Amino acid sequence: MRVLVVEDDNTLRGELEAGLTRAGYAVDGAANGQVAEIMGDQFPYDAVVLDLGLPGRTGLDVLRNWRRRGNAMPVIILTARGQWHEKVDGFAAGADDYMAKPFHIEELVARMQALLRRSKGGTQGPLERHGVVLHEDTQEVTADGATHRLTGVEFRLLRYLMMNAGRILSKEQLDEHVYDLDAEKESNVIEVYVRRLRQKIGKDRIRTRRGQGYVFGGGEE
Ligand code: CA
Repeated sequence: MRVLVVEDDNTLRGELEAGLTRAGYAVDGAANGQVAEIMGDQFPYDAVVLDLGLPGRTGLDVLRNWRRRGNAMPVIILTARGQWHEKVDGFAAGADDYMAKPFHIEELVARMQALLRRSKGGTQGPLERHGVVLHEDTQEVTADGATHRLTGVEFRLLRYLMMNAGRILSKEQLDEHVYDLDAEKESNVIEVYVRRLRQKIGKDRIRTRRGQGYVFGGGEE
């Protein structure tokens, strides 16, 4: 899962990026409205954290412009304390959730997980698909009675595959959702991580579709 954090306060943005990275997300940051709007349209983010008070272009305008163009990615807005009308305007502009400053990063992470789960049509509790249980708090996976720890990339890759179970995902799509802009990418690295995941959860749970990509729990080959 890859997220965009839009916040002009460098200290807060740094804390948000660090907290979300620890929670297993690939994270990009933006400090002004115009840049954020372009990034949000250009890259396939799974969710966005959007401060409303931004230089260049307000968060509300950025959000309205995304929605007007049909960009429906989940957005959590950050509002100033006591500004209740910001929440109302934010929801009217297409926000999915809000956090009033100041807040604890842990709550933002929890809301992000819940929002992503809802946006993929899932339920509460651990993510479970086809006999595989992903523990998002400990970044471990349980399959066939065995529990394994996952590295950061393995966790991000498996979560994205599980949240899109049954869909064919190309290597390019997986790359875009598993890595942020600063990540050092090597060619064929997704194949390497898929192989490692198969060793942990069983090889049949991630199917290869030749020339197309991978499917989690994909059934027939
Ligand atoms: Ca601000």
